[in-house]
Amino acid sequence: MTTNDPISVDCPNCKKQVAWIDANEYRPFCSKRCKLIDFGEWATERKSIHGESLYPVVDDNLDQ
Ligand SMILES: [Zn+2]
Repeated sequence: MTTNDPISVDCPNCKKQVAWIDANEYRPFCSKRCKLIDFGEWATERKSIHGESLYPVVDDNLDQ
């Protein structure tokens, strides 16, 4: 095992082997497409979390 071998990682999106090298600006993704897809899913997930209220909505008009 030589230290000069590039480290390989699995693309988080398509699980393709990706060499972890400086030349690969999209690492750990295999391509720009996979990076954008993954980021898009993350953004969508965040949006759906934002869509739900963390606290119960209190109606001020309801007198106790
Ligand atoms: Zn990929």
